[in-house]
Amino acid sequence: MRVRALVFEEFGGPLTVRAVPDPTPDRDGVVVRVGASGICRSDWHGWSGHDPDVVLPHVPGHELAGTVAAVGDRVRTWAVGDRVTVPFVCACGHCGPCRDGAGQVCANQTQPGFTHWGSLAECVALDAADVNLVALPDGMPFATAAGLGCRFATAFRAVTGVGRVRPGEWVAVHGCGGVGLSAVQVAVAAGARVVAVDIAPGALELARACGAEHTVDGAGDVPGAIAELTGGGAHVSLDALGAAVTCLNSIAGLRPRGRHVQVGLLPPVLGRPEIPMERVIAGELALLGSHGMAAADYPAMLSLITAGRLRPELLVTRELGLDDAGAALAAVGQEPGIAVVTSF
Ligand SMILES: [Zn+2]
Ligand SMILES: [Zn+2]
Repeated sequence: MRVRALVFEEFGGPLTVRAVPDPTPDRDGVVVRVGASGICRSDWHGWSGHDPDVVLPHVPGHELAGTVAAVGDRVRTWAVGDRVTVPFVCACGHCGPCRDGAGQVCANQTQPGFTHWGSLAECVALDAADVNLVALPDGMPFATAAGLGCRFATAFRAVTGVGRVRPGEWVAVHGCGGVGLSAVQVAVAAGARVVAVDIAPGALELARACGAEHTVDGAGDVPGAIAELTGGGAHVSLDALGAAVTCLNSIAGLRPRGRHVQVGLLPPVLGRPEIPMERVIAGELALLGSHGMAAADYPAMLSLITAGRLRPELLVTRELGLDDAGAALAAVGQEPGIAVVTSF
């Protein structure tokens, strides 16, 4: 058996759809027939050669939902036909961080689309299924669920678990791509007042539709604008893009004792930001990292989605076929919203 997959043979090279061998499940893993797979900036980083885990040739794709198609002989809780999604970090279930309930920083983690072939394909293999799979609520379409494994869940945990946003606080979101728009929505649902920052007017329009009270043009004096709008700076600020300028603007836009949450990836090959530590000390700022969300933490988020308090479906702006996925991946960031591949 062979399946269709989006393949690249060199970093930054052509992205072509071709037939590849059908994956087989590991003894603890499953193979999922992909129903939808989002296209994310992390895929772009992998294709661009910024991620040392990626080995050529490679199939990208890490934010997926679909149906279990094959099950390893040691899997206890899943069966063929189950509708599932999965965090982009697949945890091992037995290392120190996993035992502490922090599978998102598992020491032995695997990531589809990075450490092995991913979900921009008809089928994808996933490891440690009993630890990592998440059952989809009945009626949730695959296209909506695809972003839950990466951008929406990442934003949910960054805002609620890591940033610990409280009602009435000012939250600044720097970069309104998929994860940033998700963060705007989650922060508003948590009762925060949100300032959204981006250089693209279309992204700021979507941020307002997600509930942002103010928007700021990222090309101007961003910390100054945030200080004015919030009466002295944000309580919590997220760099949802991952760039030196958004990271530094996020830190500089905080009020004293504010919390910066780094969510966007900052691959060292693109240059490291110079953090103004004197400002961190003088203002007692907290600098926090956030890396996805473990499968065990999904129920709280899913119940808010089922209740209609969070609406990830509003962020899916384009549904594509696999044949159009390569062009969309190479052009990540050029169009606002989330692109999801829904036909393979
Ligand atoms: Zn992603
Ligand atoms: Zn682990």
